[in-house]
Order: sequence, then C-alpha cells, then structure tokens
Amino acid sequence: MRKPLVVGNWKLNGRLAENKNRILALAEAVKNITQVEVGLCLPYVYLFQAQQLLANTGMLWGAQNVSQFVQGAYTACISAEMLAEFGCHLVIVGHSERRHYTAENSQKAVIRIQRAVDAGITPIYCIGETQAEHAAGVAKKVIAAQLSALLGLDELSLQKIFALGLVVAYEPVWAIGTGQAAIPAFVQEMHVFIRRLLAQYDSHFAANVRIIYGGSVSLDNAQSLFAMPDVDGALVGRASLNVDTFAGICAIASQQAVVQSHV
Ligand code: PEP
Repeated sequence: MRKPLVVGNWKLNGRLAENKNRILALAEAVKNITQVEVGLCLPYVYLFQAQQLLANTGMLWGAQNVSQFVQGAYTACISAEMLAEFGCHLVIVGHSERRHYTAENSQKAVIRIQRAVDAGITPIYCIGETQAEHAAGVAKKVIAAQLSALLGLDELSLQKIFALGLVVAYEPVWAIGTGQAAIPAFVQEMHVFIRRLLAQYDSHFAANVRIIYGGSVSLDNAQSLFAMPDVDGALVGRASLNVDTFAGICAIASQQAVVQSHV
C-alpha cells in the first residue's frame, strides 16, 4: 500500500511573519493526519524557518530546486549537500516553471535527482505536457521522453534513486495555476501509463513508487482525484497558501486512503 503524499509548493510566495503563522497553523491542522505524509517546499531563504518550526511535527519540508553542481564557482546555486545539512527531506526537480523560465530540461533534472539522492533527499520529479502538446495528442510521448532521461541512467544509479523513494509528480502544464485541473479519469490513465513505463525497468519499484498529481488541485476536486487508484497524492501550488484549504486537501487524501485500505 502506497502512503499518499501531499506537498505544498509555495513557489515565490511568503514573508517571514506570515510564514510563521501559516506554518504553525498548518502543523496544528494536520497533526492528527497519519494516513498521509504532508510536506511543504518553500523558497530557499525560508528553509531555516521551516527547519525551526517543523522540527518534531512529523511534517516533511524541503526546497523547490537544487543545483546539478556539487560545489565551486556556480554563483547563486544551492547544492544538495547544503540542503541536506539543513535537514531538508524533499526537493522538487524539473518543475515546469523551471523548464519554462530557466530552460531546465529532463537531462539536467536527472542530474539534480542524482545529487539529491546522493545527499539523502527525496526528489519529486515533475513531468507533464504543455497545452500545445496536449492538444496535439502527444502527451504520452512527452511523458515517455521525460522519463526515459531517468530510465537511461545506469543500473546502480537507478537502484539508489528508487531505494530513496523517488516521487514522480505528473503535472500537465496546462492545468497548473489555471483553476482547470485535469479530469480524474485522464489523470488515472496518465498515472497508469507512467507506472507501466517504470515497470519496464523494475516492476517492484513501479508498484511502490508514489505518482502524485499536480495542477489546480482544490477542495472541490481533491476527492475525485484521490479516488483514482493510481493517484498517490498531490503537489499543490496556489491552494497550499491557504492553511484551511491545504489542510482540507490533506484531510480528503487521508479519508480516501482509509477507504482504499478497505477495498
Ligand atoms: C504546481 O505548480 O506545482 C502546481 C500544481 O500549482 P497549482 O496547484 O497552483 O496549479
């Protein structure tokens, strides 16, 4: 049974004072949710705050990206070792906003995944097709290419990545920040497709990997998305900035996990 994971991606949002209230209120609101892992990915400068406020809460936290470099003359980069030294549990890699604004690609993302894993941090690898690719009917082709960058790694590297519990986030770009989530049946189809691709490498890993969905998850659609058997949680952007909404989404994931454990 895969334990669902719901992660808030704060993106470029936050201020010290408001973060404090939001983080503490969230930790309180989800403290009795045990069926689901709850995490937050914050801007780098707020990781210290997360480290201080989330210690001993059971909540996971981490960064929104990591450098593909280990150390040296790479101005403004943050290494996986630095994140690990801080105690980060998670790091988002390959987010579509990074791909769009900073020309990150799957090859670079895969190096970042390796760096994260080497440092003991769980990477959340974001994949997904753009609106144009979706409209052209090539979503699966795009996803396959994004995953093949990962599956092309050598055996030892892949084993390490899988052992550390890589999370795959299927995030159709056209659904991110638009208020228009993908319909649950389509998400399920894509998640099954992703799981099958991973199974070509390792069926045990494929059965256990968490594939979470991202793209305008809200209180209104969480129930129907989490009811899909291959949706193992969510990466939540905008809705994670509101404590009640985000905690509500986590609670729905938890209820659904209980339902599925009885199926
Ligand atoms: C995201 O950017 O990862 C995301 C899912 O954003 P939103 O929930 O706002 O669509």
